[in-house]
Amino acid sequence: MKRLIEAADIQSKVSELGRRIADEYRGRPLTVIGVLTGGVVLVSDLIRSIDLPLRVGMIHASSYRGKATSPGDITLDVELLPDIRDRHVLVVDDIFDTGRTLAAVIDHIRTANPCSVRGAVLLWKERRREIDWEPHYFGFKIPDVFVVGYGLDYNDEHRSLPYVAALEEGDF
Ligand code: 5GP
Ligand code: MG
Repeated sequence: MKRLIEAADIQSKVSELGRRIADEYRGRPLTVIGVLTGGVVLVSDLIRSIDLPLRVGMIHASSYRGKATSPGDITLDVELLPDIRDRHVLVVDDIFDTGRTLAAVIDHIRTANPCSVRGAVLLWKERRREIDWEPHYFGFKIPDVFVVGYGLDYNDEHRSLPYVAALEEGDF
């Protein structure tokens, strides 16, 4: 594996995002929705960097189904989604790749009539975008390589790495 982004750089970026989000949502009812499973690491670090009262919920989205293949249909499980009517929603995921996952989550969230919806991701593979929408907050733009760590898995492993690494030929 080749390390792409060190843990300390992720931590300072997440703190910076948290401060920005706190400034922009101050005085407004905020609900942060993490996208399971890859979004759990960012959501847990990010909410502790947002110095505001907020609520937390989760939604489960799967497209890769544990394999490093191209994304198929996106399945949403909305069982853990709290009531978001009259709240400002920030959806937090690990990575924006084609954008289809976040778009599906946000389309669903909009049907529940929140005041607003924005997206936040740690990583953004800018050149892979397939939809006409972009994340409002992002940590780092990365090239089109398969990455693991900080929530991102390969066959359900490596999610707990505190840094982001790219898998190389022999790693698959
Ligand atoms: P999208 O729907 O934007 O194409 O893909 C988003 C989802 O695909 C992410 O939440 C993540 O689960 C998965 N994904 C996309 N690129 C990568 C990658 O480089 N590494 C890993 N581990 N997962 C990825
Ligand atoms: Mg994911």
